[in-house]
Amino acid sequence: MQKSFLSSLFLALLLLCTPSHAGGKHDFSFKVSRGDAFYKFFFSTGLSGDLLTKLMSSDKRAQRLNNIYPGDKFRIILNDDHSLKEIVFSPLNDNPLNIYYDGSTFSYEKKKDARAGSEITYTVIKIQKSLNYDAKKVGVDAEVIKMMVDHFSWEIDFSRDLRKGDRFVLSWNGDDTPEAMIYIGDRKTIALFSHKDSQGRKKYYTSNGLTINDTFAFAPVKYSRISSGFSKRRWHPKLKTYRPHRGTDFAAPTGTPVYAPAKGLVKYVATLSGYGNVIYLKHGSELVTVYAHLSKFAKGLKAGNRVKKGELIGYVGSTGMSTGPHLHYEIRINGVHKDAEKIKLEKRSDVPNNKMSSFQKKAKRILFELNIK
Ligand SMILES: [Zn+2]
Repeated sequence: MQKSFLSSLFLALLLLCTPSHAGGKHDFSFKVSRGDAFYKFFFSTGLSGDLLTKLMSSDKRAQRLNNIYPGDKFRIILNDDHSLKEIVFSPLNDNPLNIYYDGSTFSYEKKKDARAGSEITYTVIKIQKSLNYDAKKVGVDAEVIKMMVDHFSWEIDFSRDLRKGDRFVLSWNGDDTPEAMIYIGDRKTIALFSHKDSQGRKKYYTSNGLTINDTFAFAPVKYSRISSGFSKRRWHPKLKTYRPHRGTDFAAPTGTPVYAPAKGLVKYVATLSGYGNVIYLKHGSELVTVYAHLSKFAKGLKAGNRVKKGELIGYVGSTGMSTGPHLHYEIRINGVHKDAEKIKLEKRSDVPNNKMSSFQKKAKRILFELNIK
């Protein structure tokens, strides 16, 4: 009785181990080496060029398969009839991407890494040329790159401060956007961690729970009044013509201090014929403020400096094309002039008090696991 049970078990095992299809293999694993291309793996499984074309045009996420790097892994799984069933792409520095094929359409799923919880996954971008170039090279999406620039531009001047060898580290926990974004330069480290509000909206905060942007003061001068607002058509007494006034004028005596209304980077300090002595400050990636007709600049102020909110940058005057002492102040977003009296700029915000300890715990864990002090 027992003997016949064992022999039928043996027979069953034998049957299980025998390939069901004469062609044999249905599960292919590949590890990417230097110079490899995805299409080579794809074709080596016997799948067609037509299917590859269909796959590549199915979703922009498929483009990720064209940017593979040594150490990345693939599994291509076929059905019994040798049609495509599934592709599992496991990049070295990112969560796996599963692509399923049902015979007519492709569907995509980015998996949380199996290691999540005990160990986080991360992408390291080492700067060789530029953030844009080097991030694309390791497969970071254009939207994520833009987000990085938007945030870090509040503290880093990408055209001046970034050095070869600087690193950006992104940590992931299964979302399309990172859990944390960290810049590690020679002179400083800037770490931003995500937090979702009750509506599920994600924002990034420094480890003390504040967003990296700054809240703007309404005026860059104290105790003054607006003598001329933003308008499309204004009589210009010197030019004797109507011209748009694309800024706000604050009346104030010569020598009145002018302060940065928010933290920023000094982009330009110059003397121009119209603006006279003028300063351009950049705040984040899109916002520029302009201060014109100054009598003089703050001592030592030059392009490349970083200024804090409330820091002295210059003094009211009447240089350039000006009818009397005043500060001409402009706000530009992506080069478009905005009315300082009307525009609502994003304020600095913070992680709510009741979420702060879990937020800071998460930040500490990420820094610890990435071995960043
Ligand atoms: Zn003006």
